[in-house]
Amino acid sequence: MNICRADKVLLAGGAALLGSSALLTATPLAIGASAAFLAVLTDGIFRPSSSVLYPTISHGPRDRPRVALTFDDGPDPEVTPAILDTLEAAGGARATFFVIGRHLERHRHIAARALSEGHELGNHSWMHSYLQNFYRTDQQQSDVERSTRLIQELSGSHAEPLYRPPVGLKSPPLARVAHARKLKVIAWSLHSRDTMARDADATAARVLSRIAPGDIVLMHDGHERDGKHRRLAAAALPLILRGLRERGLASVTVSELLRV
Ligand SMILES: [Zn+2]
Repeated sequence: MNICRADKVLLAGGAALLGSSALLTATPLAIGASAAFLAVLTDGIFRPSSSVLYPTISHGPRDRPRVALTFDDGPDPEVTPAILDTLEAAGGARATFFVIGRHLERHRHIAARALSEGHELGNHSWMHSYLQNFYRTDQQQSDVERSTRLIQELSGSHAEPLYRPPVGLKSPPLARVAHARKLKVIAWSLHSRDTMARDADATAARVLSRIAPGDIVLMHDGHERDGKHRRLAAAALPLILRGLRERGLASVTVSELLRV
């Protein structure tokens, strides 16, 4: 039987809980086994780079002078074009846009421009709902598929796009869908904190003080809520690209970064 990693974790955890409660009712060992299982499950759900529930990639090879800049939650008509302009002006800098499907549907032309300029589109769900982590397997499946289909239509490719779960959270139903579709799930190794900071200089300084070959950098060109915008990454990007050039680091798409 072809069961996925998330189900193995749940089965093993369930067996441990049942076994310990049958044999060792309320002994320290039973409590310890239950706590350990919950700790593993919590890590799998809440730590974006955790591979407990599903293999998750958070960086590329560390021995090549390349990094991948990623932008989540767009396309945003007020922000994404400026980011594309900056990347274009940097001559050859590439990025990956993890788009929200319902934003993509309204701003296809921006995504089409990104593709035509050599950037990559990744799937960041259709809804980006706060309830996404409670979706049943069939709901997760249709959410993933809806965005995938639109990205494939725009790119003219049948390849399954890279996937980044909303907020980086993974649930057992999402892991089952990822397993069935053989999704490449992408987290990050460096968070720009552009959602919390107010200052582009500080954001660029944070990224450039930590950046290392192989890093996947998380930034935002959009917002999950309609009518809201995140502009800090666009403001920090010229500084970040200049810093990468000074360090001899090329900015490539995530797929290029992972290609050996
Ligand atoms: Zn997001």
